[in-house]
Amino acid sequence: SDSLSNLGKYGGNAAGVNEYAPRGVKPVKGALVALVRNDDLFGMRKAVRQLEDRWNHKYNYPYIFLNDQPFTREFKQGIRDLTNAPVQFGQLEPGTWGYPSWIDQDKARNERETAKYIKGHSESYRFMCRFQSGFIHKHPLLKDLEYYWRIEPDVDYYCDIDFDPFLFMKKNGLKYGWNIAPSEYAPTVRTLWNTTKEFMNKNPQMIPDKNLLDWVQDDKGEYNMCHFWSNFEIVDLSLYRSPQYEAYFNHLDRSGGFFYERWGDAPIHSLAVAMFLRKSQVHYFDVIGYRHPAMAHCPKGSDVRGKCVCDPSDGWANDFSCAKRWRQVS
Ligand code: GDP
Ligand code: MN
Repeated sequence: SDSLSNLGKYGGNAAGVNEYAPRGVKPVKGALVALVRNDDLFGMRKAVRQLEDRWNHKYNYPYIFLNDQPFTREFKQGIRDLTNAPVQFGQLEPGTWGYPSWIDQDKARNERETAKYIKGHSESYRFMCRFQSGFIHKHPLLKDLEYYWRIEPDVDYYCDIDFDPFLFMKKNGLKYGWNIAPSEYAPTVRTLWNTTKEFMNKNPQMIPDKNLLDWVQDDKGEYNMCHFWSNFEIVDLSLYRSPQYEAYFNHLDRSGGFFYERWGDAPIHSLAVAMFLRKSQVHYFDVIGYRHPAMAHCPKGSDVRGKCVCDPSDGWANDFSCAKRWRQVS
């Protein structure tokens, strides 16, 4: 049954002992990490409150908040009031926000003025996507972290989380954990796939034979727009710190697609996962009930249902084709 298989997967053994239960000394260097604006305080408080109530009050993993602007005292206090866990606040390093020197800013402006897709007009959104793609894992506050769990303002955590996802990742050799897998808006990534193929052709030695490229390609070998929604992701940071990922990001960054289109960090992280990992290193956290504005995943498994406040018939996000395709690829 669902309940038995989930128990096994997330740590219950035959005696009903949860090996991923909280313990005194943290077994993993993990943290909850968010890039946020001061204006996001109330949305972030809502998310932190739920994370604390549903999970972290038992684990006390630290939080790290990053911002391109200095955090206000109000923001820092507003977060610290909600948790006993350590909380750190940092500003971005020079050069990790804004335009790199080779970008033609007139061309970038023209794209913003004529774009007909969501957030197409926004310059800061593009800075954000570039930062989350290429620099967040290099921020000094993340230096000692093995794993991060990315969080955002205005998300909901619907269910109790009765295990340690960081430890689960570590014990099972997992590099990437996801929760919702939608389709990307094609006009935002017009040349992303060709640029990615260029990278693979130049660096064939970086692409292992066993990979997940089938998940992101259609029958004709084109990008099928599948991606993991990176507003929730639990990641072994050695993935983003690897020379392969660094080379991939630099290749993308040089091409200018963050600005001449509106490449998101979600498809970029996902294409990197597809190139560099195999399926056994990637985990669908199906027992985590989660909502980011516009889409939700509500677990149906009978072992967690009782601890969720979402309507299971609303758990539709993963009935879409990308999650179906995930179940089919090997
Ligand atoms: P969406 O999830 O794609 O709709 O994008 P969001 O607007 O939620 O942004 C993603 C994350 O980046 C959120 O945590 C935002 O708070 C953060 N973010 C977006 N734009 C900025 C910005 O200009 N400055 C800072 N500091 N954070 C930003
Ligand atoms: Mn968001």
